[in-house]
Amino acid sequence: MSKTSAPAAPRTHRYLALLWPALALLACAVLWSAAILRAGGEEQRASEQVFKKADAYAEAYEQYVTRSVAQMDQITMQLKHSWEHSRNPALIEDMRRDGMFTDAAFVSVSVIGRDGHIRSSSRIAERSLSLAAAPFFVEHRDNISTALRIGTPPPELEEARGAVLFTRRLDTDDDEFDGVLLMAVDAAYFTSFVSAPTLGAGSLLALVGSGNTLRVEQDASGALRTGVAASLLPANADRWPVAHGVQLVEGSARAGGFGDGRARVLGWRRSSAYPLVAVVALSRDAALAGAEAYWTASRNNTIVACAVLLAMSAAASILSLRASRRAREQAEVQRAYRTATESGNDGFYMVAPVRDRKGQVIDFRIVDCNERGAFFYGMTRTSLVGSLVSQLDRGVGGPELIDEYRQAMTVGFHQEDRRMPDDNRLNIRWGHRRLVRVGDGLAVTLQDISERKEHETQLARLANEDSLTGLPNRHWFLNFVPSALSHAQAGGHGAALLFVDLDEFKQVNDSHGHAVGDRLLKDAAGRLLSQLRPGDRVARFGGDEFIVLLSPFDSDQQVAAVAARIVGAFAKPFAIADEQHMIGASVGISVFPRDGLDAATLIRHSDIAMYAGKNEGKGQYRFFDPAQSSTLKTRAQLRQRLLEAIEQRQFVLHYQPRVDTRDGRLLSMEALLRWEHPQLGMIRPDEFIPLAESSGLIVPIGAIVIDMACAQLAAWGAAGLDPVPVSINVSPKQFLRGGVHRELAQALARHGVAARLLEVEITESAMMGDQDEILAELAAIRALGIKLHVDDFGTGYSSLSQLQRMKMDVLKVDRSFTAELGRSKEGTVFFQAIVSMAHALGMEVVAEGVENAEQLAILRHLHCNEVQGYLIARPMPAQAIETLLEKRYLLEQALAA
Ligand code: C2E
Ligand code: CA
Ligand code: CA
Repeated sequence: MSKTSAPAAPRTHRYLALLWPALALLACAVLWSAAILRAGGEEQRASEQVFKKADAYAEAYEQYVTRSVAQMDQITMQLKHSWEHSRNPALIEDMRRDGMFTDAAFVSVSVIGRDGHIRSSSRIAERSLSLAAAPFFVEHRDNISTALRIGTPPPELEEARGAVLFTRRLDTDDDEFDGVLLMAVDAAYFTSFVSAPTLGAGSLLALVGSGNTLRVEQDASGALRTGVAASLLPANADRWPVAHGVQLVEGSARAGGFGDGRARVLGWRRSSAYPLVAVVALSRDAALAGAEAYWTASRNNTIVACAVLLAMSAAASILSLRASRRAREQAEVQRAYRTATESGNDGFYMVAPVRDRKGQVIDFRIVDCNERGAFFYGMTRTSLVGSLVSQLDRGVGGPELIDEYRQAMTVGFHQEDRRMPDDNRLNIRWGHRRLVRVGDGLAVTLQDISERKEHETQLARLANEDSLTGLPNRHWFLNFVPSALSHAQAGGHGAALLFVDLDEFKQVNDSHGHAVGDRLLKDAAGRLLSQLRPGDRVARFGGDEFIVLLSPFDSDQQVAAVAARIVGAFAKPFAIADEQHMIGASVGISVFPRDGLDAATLIRHSDIAMYAGKNEGKGQYRFFDPAQSSTLKTRAQLRQRLLEAIEQRQFVLHYQPRVDTRDGRLLSMEALLRWEHPQLGMIRPDEFIPLAESSGLIVPIGAIVIDMACAQLAAWGAAGLDPVPVSINVSPKQFLRGGVHRELAQALARHGVAARLLEVEITESAMMGDQDEILAELAAIRALGIKLHVDDFGTGYSSLSQLQRMKMDVLKVDRSFTAELGRSKEGTVFFQAIVSMAHALGMEVVAEGVENAEQLAILRHLHCNEVQGYLIARPMPAQAIETLLEKRYLLEQALAA
């Protein structure tokens, strides 16, 4: 992923978040338009349909009516003939007997005489009626036309109410008026054209005679109405402008609409043969109900569809936004990872799982990496990105690797050192792989640890060897002895252990520096080896201690001879850098199995034997004697007790003030360590510091001292006292190990003490050799703001200019020189030289061990800056210091005492 396209994925997701709702809105608009258009079309179609239907029904009805009336026309014509030919007064009755007019549709058929009285009739009840005044009678009488007349029955014809009346004029042979033929037909006969429901709810079927002579109407319920008064047809329904037509009629009756105010599509057709109009009126609402229902349904469907669409788009939008956020976070993580790793030596990869259809992770794809990561595969980033892990790490360990990746996906983390197989495409031999799950993927870092691993193997080799002398070391020796002992036991010949300790090594090392010390140890090892048989084993056991294993072992005499040879060999001086160094060696001997059955016992006993010899004058050898251990257990025991002391913090600090030489003002003090043993009481440092140094225990002890001094300073501060700086003694061992500045800084911080309140005393010997590490350590301590004192100055070989180069602040002249003051002239001259040179080099001078007033007077005269010693104050517990801190000036009292 390049820098510019890095945020592409989140941006796409953001666009999608907007796109979904937009698409959904668009789809909704389309759905609505379609629904509205369809509904409009549907209505249009329904409306056209109802017009057509009204027209078609009207046409069919007209034909039906015309045909029906034509039948009536025929029947009345025949009746007229029959009457005129026969003049049979019982004509109708006869015909009825013959089965005519029996149909219910024929309400009545009568012949009316010229006087208006009925002469023959299908209905008996009507015989007495006189119809001379009835409008139809009058019209036929006064009109010679023989045409059929269609009308409504007069009130006199009670039974014929609601029927349609057909009448014809009867003539005599010479065409004189001879009465009227009357036929009343049930109105329903003319409306039974279709069953009422066929036309639909609200529809009407009507037969209208011209000039309001006739009106027959049937509605959708089948109810029949006759007469203009009962009609629902619009008021102008008798005036038809054209022969046929269709039109929508709506509005109230007064406004020209139907009597019930309903909107109807009205189709009419004038009969081709009779003065009649066939009318069909279809309810518009009923016709459009389908379209209306369609619209309601499609509107509801559209609302539901739009709601679903909008909800889905909202969900999609939320998902996209979430994906955007996730992608952005992932991109950020990726970027951060890459920025963090691009500069380093680590390969960095982002891999995404590849899943099969069931969702199982089957492989991983590299979606990003840094150039370094690609380099490990001998590829460029662009070519590596997109590759499958299974293709890259094929062969040995390949499938296993995918398993680990999968594991990391579930657990979240995995790391390992891995030896890269030789067939692997990776350019490294050893890799440290770290897998961290990030979102739905893994961040993989791969570190080339080939060098470190090689170093480790080398270290393993070195673990058994002392690098200085090339001899096997303690580690090797302790591993080796048990097998050697069992071997000796099996061979039945025993073994002897010689503990060799160099007598004066420490002094030479302290005063001449480590370079000399190292040479000395090397030469000593060589000299030791030269005294042994090839089968004997020798190891450097620690500092200036060596152990020799003689096996097989013949006799005490033989061992004594070897030991004597060794002691003799060390009696000669060592020549190093044009100087002769006498060191000497003491040897202690323990014999297996006599003096012990295991390595630890044999070593301890040889150590005790060696000390027994040393105590009685150095440069000797001694066989172990159980009597020795009761007196000389101390060294081994002391070590054990020191360990306990450290664990139980059996230490306290005493403080010895330093004052201004001129006025005795308290300027600072020295912290001096005391061991308060629960049984043995107070133990002075001289009794345990040397062992602590040689055993390395000085390191934890030194840390305790630093901590206690800081704690005390903090306590004084908290008690409202104004503490003066406290100097602490740092052993050369501590100092050479390094890290003292860190311990100091941590302790200061831990107790919240200002650095100016802490000072450090270092003996000259610690600074010997001009080593870079020492200079660096000194600089680091100074950088904290801690003053540096050269302790016991004058006992070593360091030059003033050397000390100045090391930026030492204070020279503490050893008390042996103070002791010389007033005793010898040289003593005073020497001291004076030190003071003037130190001042010239910008260093202050402290005189240690000032015990009397004479010394103080001389030191005042020499302008020595500070004095310390029993004259001023002895080292005292912290509590006693408090009164001094309040008093401040100590000299008068000291001088008075
Ligand atoms: P040092 O650093 O030279 O400490 C001064 C020693 O001289 C102290 O002995 C002190 O009690 C003693 N002293 C002070 N004024 C006089 C005097 O007027 N006359 C005489 N004769 N002696 C005086 P101390 O306390 O027994 O310490 C002995 C040594 O133990 C110290 O010598 C120092 O090298 C070592 N030491 C003490 N405390 C520590 C510590 O915390 N760490 C380390 N590494 N060494 C310590
Ligand atoms: Ca000191
Ligand atoms: Ca000292």
